[in-house]
Amino acid sequence: MTKTLFNTIYEGYAYSYPHKHSYRTLTPQNLRSLWQEEKKDALFLYIHLPFCEMRCGFCNLFTIANPRANMVDAYLETLDREAAAIKEQIGPEGFGQMAVGGGTPTFLDLPQMEKLFSIIHQLGCNPGDIPASFEMSPATITKEKLHLLYTQGIDRVSVGIQSFLEQEAHALGRPQKNKEVYAALDLLKSYPFETVNVDLIYGAYGQTLSSWLYSLQEVIRYDVREVFIYPLYVRPLTGINRMDHAEEDSRFMFYREAKQLLISAGYKQISMRMFQKKDPAPQRYTRSYSCQEDGMIGLGAGARSYTQSVHYSSEYAVARQHIRSIIEKYIARPDFNHVDYGIMLNKEEQQRRFIIKSILHGDGLDLRRYNDLFGRHAWLEYPLLQELTADGLAWLEGDLLRLTSTGVDYSDAIGPSLYSTSVKQLINEFELQ
Ligand code: SF4
Repeated sequence: MTKTLFNTIYEGYAYSYPHKHSYRTLTPQNLRSLWQEEKKDALFLYIHLPFCEMRCGFCNLFTIANPRANMVDAYLETLDREAAAIKEQIGPEGFGQMAVGGGTPTFLDLPQMEKLFSIIHQLGCNPGDIPASFEMSPATITKEKLHLLYTQGIDRVSVGIQSFLEQEAHALGRPQKNKEVYAALDLLKSYPFETVNVDLIYGAYGQTLSSWLYSLQEVIRYDVREVFIYPLYVRPLTGINRMDHAEEDSRFMFYREAKQLLISAGYKQISMRMFQKKDPAPQRYTRSYSCQEDGMIGLGAGARSYTQSVHYSSEYAVARQHIRSIIEKYIARPDFNHVDYGIMLNKEEQQRRFIIKSILHGDGLDLRRYNDLFGRHAWLEYPLLQELTADGLAWLEGDLLRLTSTGVDYSDAIGPSLYSTSVKQLINEFELQ
């Protein structure tokens, strides 16, 4: 039955909507006026550090490996200026969540990381009061850096490992050493972070079911609280794209096996990619951020910011020379008082965003809340929701529409099928550099 709804399971990862490939140059808009009418008491603060010690073959994130010596310091100075502009122009009243990602934020040395936290505090954000996450790679973790993160109140640390087999990691274009992986995990486990997350990838060239299960077993053995499993997507301009990858697609089978293994090891599936230990982390927070309704303030080149009706960022690229030039442009900006690249969301796009974020990443789509916000009936307006239910991919409990376990397996087909025609067209026409 499901085959009648979707041609492929792996259409795309709908982690945000609209996708950044739909962003274009905007008529410059004043930052202060853009945020004037927005709710500002439970914002998400995201800071992007576009630097890594290596460029992995599968990665299309906005980052460069081994930037020139003074670029990171110049970048931090610019973050400082941008934060000051945000404070003055937007006037955040409170933060409900924060994350530092990239790139590899632990690529920064200790004084640079200290500077980063002083910028965060300057914005009025105290990581110790809210869910606060920090990304890292095994080779860049040190005791001193973890100590700083812990004392600053970071409660979730996320480490990209991808595979516990060196050969497999190398096939992913990631020159990772197992010695560093195990040393990093030992070190991480010696700090009482509430959540340690490990990222793994399946579908790599040469990966077998038993090598994939081996990596999962290693994560389970380390008893980390959270695991993200990512299907490999071969993306334009990345190293993997140039490797003439031609392995039979076994991703779905690998995924199903992983799901079964993680659930039997005591993990709960939260989304297609995210599994969490059943015991919840202690809740020490007073505010909560809702990704469907609250705004996001992005700091840094490549970071996205969201108001209800405008999503914006710097430009986006994958090739090294273009990323470098976007970072240089960011550093050279005389001020941060206006926004000139992104997408305007009309009512229909806001509705679609609410549905996609709720059904794929949240606790389900609250049809009553949707009706309160938009004055419309999602169930009637989006026949796909009824089709998903008829096909056994979603189920309705009162006003809440949730994906079934099989529906979650089809997330990468369901998400893109909810994109509007105009966003799909913008994505298709995007000239990736
Ligand atoms: S996967 Fe992570 S470490 Fe590798 S290039 Fe991308 S951001 Fe950097």
